[in-house]
Amino acid sequence: MSIQLADRINRLEESATLLMSKKSRELASQGIDVINLSLGEPDFTTPKHICDAAKNALDQGYTYYTPVAGYLDLRQAVAAKLKRENGLEYAADQIVVSTGAKQSLSNAILALVNPGEEVIIPTPYWVSYSEMVKLAEGKSVFIPTTVESNFKITAAQLEAAITPKSKLFMFSSPCNPTGSVYSKEELAELVKVFEKYPNIYILSDEIYEHINFGDGHASIASFESVKDRVIIINGFSKGYAMTGWRLGYMAASKAIAAACDKLQGQVTSGTCSIAQRAALVALTADMSPTYEMREAFRKRRDLVYNLLKDIKGVKANLPDGAFYFFPDVSSFFGKSYEGKEIKNADELSLLLLSEAHVSTVGGDSFGDPNSIRFSYATSEEKLIEAMRRISAFLEKVK
Ligand code: PMP
Ligand code: GLU
Repeated sequence: MSIQLADRINRLEESATLLMSKKSRELASQGIDVINLSLGEPDFTTPKHICDAAKNALDQGYTYYTPVAGYLDLRQAVAAKLKRENGLEYAADQIVVSTGAKQSLSNAILALVNPGEEVIIPTPYWVSYSEMVKLAEGKSVFIPTTVESNFKITAAQLEAAITPKSKLFMFSSPCNPTGSVYSKEELAELVKVFEKYPNIYILSDEIYEHINFGDGHASIASFESVKDRVIIINGFSKGYAMTGWRLGYMAASKAIAAACDKLQGQVTSGTCSIAQRAALVALTADMSPTYEMREAFRKRRDLVYNLLKDIKGVKANLPDGAFYFFPDVSSFFGKSYEGKEIKNADELSLLLLSEAHVSTVGGDSFGDPNSIRFSYATSEEKLIEAMRRISAFLEKVK
């Protein structure tokens, strides 16, 4: 019997980041020494004081359903963090804690976008953005960028993408996959455009806030003229090395937060009680483990950049944040490896996995077919070996 799945599932692409990681794990399980650079996940373990807080939570009986939007003291701690670190005023009822930034993004899109409404997304973007828009039956409108503009859009490009159907603008800074970071001045230029279009909401994914090697984080919510229309998305996966805990949050106007609370109440009932108690400690304790991880990422970024810039045919920018490189590899398209022509970045990425045993992700699912993405959230030793393998492989592409 053939199973009749819903159209929405048939239309949906599988997450390319998760798929390449699965492929890489499969090869590794056959005994092959694969270096997995496809998944954006810190290799650090969660700091001990956060793990201890989870153990204490269990001992203290935090094993029941929590309020759907998260424990009140955790939401208050998020509001205090936004004030302390970002200078932003939010009340606890403007915060919704969720099972990860991924779910917070999806909540916001489902709460705001009607079928047929347009969501403006600069490319390259994180793989799940366009698929979440599809699930909401919205229409993604892409603004292209290139390595030459450091993968950032201009105010003129933004304005040209706006139509009467535009509902939402969605971006990440620091950016996955490019590592680009918008400065306060650059955001100010975009804000001038949004001021002219009061019906457009702004979904600002700030999950890499703490992995920023420049002058610090700037949030578009710091502009009072648009703050009410901004939905900040953040979480614990990257800055606190807590990917498996499934913990994120949004900060937004009361009406949007209430809508997401309602949605979450019908879909997940909120996230894990134990993870929430640990998150409270993460937010209120000393941040030095986060800063140490950031410094390790900075060192790795410099190391990889120095190796990458010597590989002929690869064009990379120096990322200011996150933990990814997104080099343009289009100079290899039309060339061949052992008689087989390489047509695009996805094919190159698959060959890198099967032949060089380095797992990356092709740029197509990030909306940029000229590049591949790889994460440098792994040891220096593995990074050096991965760059050696990539370089040796590319030399054989003629
Ligand atoms: N946004 C971006 C840009 C990301 O890279 C990720 C990575 N997983 C997420 C959101 C989702 O993070 P989380 O683990 O909190 O769901
Ligand atoms: N955000 C990470 C990445 O881009 C994790 C994988 C995912 O959630 O898709 O690789």
